[in-house]
Amino acid sequence: VANDPKKFRIPKEFTLFGSKYIVTIEDKLFETESCYGTADDDLKRIRLQKVGPATRISEEDGVKHEANIIVTDEVLIETFYHELCHIILDALGEEELSLNEKFVNMLGKSFLEVYLSSNYEEEKSQ
Ligand SMILES: [Zn+2]
Repeated sequence: VANDPKKFRIPKEFTLFGSKYIVTIEDKLFETESCYGTADDDLKRIRLQKVGPATRISEEDGVKHEANIIVTDEVLIETFYHELCHIILDALGEEELSLNEKFVNMLGKSFLEVYLSSNYEEEKSQ
């Protein structure tokens, strides 16, 4: 790994196609929404489950089910890019592509791989 995943900075906001988006990192996203991240182009918001363990307890027909996950730094980066790809595709009106989770997953993994393997000039000469 060329690039330390701990050094990746998730933005708290960014602008895309002239609109401002906010990114929140939350304790209980997995617990309440059963996912690692969400993207909402209408609300201009990305939500991410924070790094660490998370648990979701659900009940179906009186049977309790417990799901446990551990979000690593790599998973957080990949999820950020995954949700960003949803936002970009939605903003471009490419709804069908955005609904293709396999495609969006591959994009998220691709961006993570590029970030982790990136090498840089020691100092950028002007
Ligand atoms: Zn998705």
